[in-house]
Amino acid sequence: MRAQPKASHYINGRYVEDEQGAVIDVLYPATGETIARVHSATENIVELAMEAARSAQPAWARLKPVERGRILRRAAELVLARNDDLARLETLNTGKALQETLVADAPSAAEALEFFGGAVASFTGEQVDLGQSFGYTRREPLGVCVGIGAWNYPIQIAGWKAAPALAMGNAMVFKPSELTPLTALALAEIFTEAGLPDGLFNVVQGLGNVGATLVTHPATAKVSLTGSVETGRKVQALAGGKMKHATMELGGKSPLIVFDDADVKNAVGGALLANFYSTGQICSNGTRVFVQKGIYEHFLDDLTRRTKAIRLGDPLDPETHLGPLISRAQRDKVMGYIAIGQEEGATLHLGGGTPKLQGFEGGYYVEPTIFTEVGDHMRIAREEIFGPVMSVLTFEEEDEVIARANDTEFGLAAGVFTRDLARAHRVIAALDAGTCWINAYNLTPVELPFGGFKQSGIGRENARAALAHYSQLKSVYVEMGDVESPY
Ligand code: NDP
Repeated sequence: MRAQPKASHYINGRYVEDEQGAVIDVLYPATGETIARVHSATENIVELAMEAARSAQPAWARLKPVERGRILRRAAELVLARNDDLARLETLNTGKALQETLVADAPSAAEALEFFGGAVASFTGEQVDLGQSFGYTRREPLGVCVGIGAWNYPIQIAGWKAAPALAMGNAMVFKPSELTPLTALALAEIFTEAGLPDGLFNVVQGLGNVGATLVTHPATAKVSLTGSVETGRKVQALAGGKMKHATMELGGKSPLIVFDDADVKNAVGGALLANFYSTGQICSNGTRVFVQKGIYEHFLDDLTRRTKAIRLGDPLDPETHLGPLISRAQRDKVMGYIAIGQEEGATLHLGGGTPKLQGFEGGYYVEPTIFTEVGDHMRIAREEIFGPVMSVLTFEEEDEVIARANDTEFGLAAGVFTRDLARAHRVIAALDAGTCWINAYNLTPVELPFGGFKQSGIGRENARAALAHYSQLKSVYVEMGDVESPY
């Protein structure tokens, strides 16, 4: 299986190579075979990309928002027209099941392009009455924005960052995770085909050190990172040291609370989506499932039966639900947590193994895993695992579960299942989380802001909130009378 791109980087509207950069082998996580080979960006490549972005941005910013939006909407159409190919490429690069990548990856990038391509024209400043005089505000672009992506949703992350940045009149240099360099390049090609002027969306490959060079580059006005909390702290510090704008979309250990009166079928469906979709590699996953005592047996029976029916296998087979984890290192990390959970005294209720699938012996598979009898203090209930590992906890009272749900350094997401809507809104209001669901989980429509409280992040992606984070506000005072001066 090969998925070799034409070259490693995409700068100023074309593919660029520099073989001096360290080699990055791109693996198919289902088999471990090498499907492509790219080079990490050298200093020369970083400079080329930054210079291309810096020179292209001013003319782009001078276009009317509706003209910029038209190009983004054309790109959205092209992404959707190529969805089958993009989904296959994303599956080869991430190992995620094709039945997911067909509906959740490139389509989500397209949705962002469509949304911001339309929304930007109405994202205006305001006019302020000052009596005799008046003032107004302008939303102006920041300049060159750096996007840095994680490996779990490569093209979605590139789209979620590029769409609001470009719509607002910025240029972007995007660095994918070194594990998933391929689909951002495909997106860059699509932008060029859609008519985006050269230099406005550039892709450079590399490890974290390339990311750090981009963040601190003098031409960089803003950085938007999707990654772990640990990386977020480093990038935020680097950006802060140079007074650059920053948006951080980081990890979590989110609570999903199921009350006695919940629809059990829906609550179990939510818990499954909140833990096993994308083989558990989703930042907003509800990995602490709090179930009220009265419903516990019923919930666990249904959860067990439906988890046993999850099909692991060939990610390219449309019948497969669950593919492998992204890498050997990630599988080892997840298996390490499964061992820790048992050592800490939790009950391994289901799964916990690494299946050997015929033809996929080299793949990084882990069974969907459920722990019960989990204590709040256990590491499996406190630390982000980023794999298909669910912890089920029980509770009795509403106040109790709110306090326990909030007892974490993270605050990315939270969910509540109940038929009592007054309780649903009361509990959601009391939870320290930036992205919440009532009787649903992990739906992230572009129309709603997405992001975290506490250690889970700063700033927001999606919705008009993202346009605010890719712009700066200029205030203009207009004097209609004489200047009153005592001098
Ligand atoms: P990492 O934090 O390891 O890496 C994220 C990106 O940052 C990668 O492109 C990485 O490059 C780059 N990077 C690493 N160090 C630096 C640095 N010092 N300066 C600049 N860039 C750097 O995350 P993963 O890729 O391992 O993704 C998993 C994590 O991402 C999980 O913890 C998950 O919670 C989080 N995540 C958060 C999301 C959210 O929206 N809140 C969404 C998806 C994931 P390289 O990989 O090449 O080293």
